[in-house]
Amino acid sequence: MLLPISVSIFGALIGSFLSVCIGRIPNGESIVSPPSHCPKCKTPIAFYDNVPLLSFIFLRGRCRSCHEPISPRYFLVESLTALLAVALFHWFGVGFSFFVSFVFGAALIVISFIDLDVRIVPDVISLPGIILGLAFSVIGYFFFRDGLTIIPSPVSSLIGIVAGGGFLLATAWIYEKFTGVDGMGGGDIKLLAMIGAFLGWPSIPVTLFIASLLGSVVGITCMVITGAGRRLALPFAPFLCSGALIYLFYGAQIIDFYLSPS
Ligand SMILES: [Zn+2]
Repeated sequence: MLLPISVSIFGALIGSFLSVCIGRIPNGESIVSPPSHCPKCKTPIAFYDNVPLLSFIFLRGRCRSCHEPISPRYFLVESLTALLAVALFHWFGVGFSFFVSFVFGAALIVISFIDLDVRIVPDVISLPGIILGLAFSVIGYFFFRDGLTIIPSPVSSLIGIVAGGGFLLATAWIYEKFTGVDGMGGGDIKLLAMIGAFLGWPSIPVTLFIASLLGSVVGITCMVITGAGRRLALPFAPFLCSGALIYLFYGAQIIDFYLSPS
């Protein structure tokens, strides 16, 4: 019981750091300095007001000095990261698979929220992510071969990078050719290459399928509610990230289901 609690506290602490990344990366600001401050009145946040999850509840979502509301995004990101840590711990136990998939999941959270916020998939995360995913698969292959569930072989990772990047590049080119609209951003292409690097090539069709399904359901729902036309542009990265996370947990079952005879 103590271990899951420690893992969730660890997750919430990392989530608090991810919130800082989400707020600062799009502006090109440093993620380490200056220390956290209220975005409205610039008052530095004391350590006792910077406790993940709890401070937001105790301060009722407002800054202690200027009483302006604090974005609920902080609370959301901290709870999501804590949930991710606990789920991965439950799934993989503590080890190399946990470490790699937590790094991957944390990157997906940051990318999703930045895309929701400013409609950009930041290169500073996706490009190093491609290298890191491939590096982890090589380390896993040589040092942690036993008991690896989700980390792909270096070959699968490499094909994943090419397939993820290449497939979307081709789709974007064809889409633009026929509609004249730049539908899929270059950021989404690098994100899918990163997903391929971390999860291996079989994750690419599965992730794309889940993302398109989720995107259509959410898109149609939004159009019905808001009455917006066909040109309603939703950020696609959060759907790709959700698809990748579902694959991270259920990928083996999904592949088995489709490849098993009868
Ligand atoms: Zn303030």
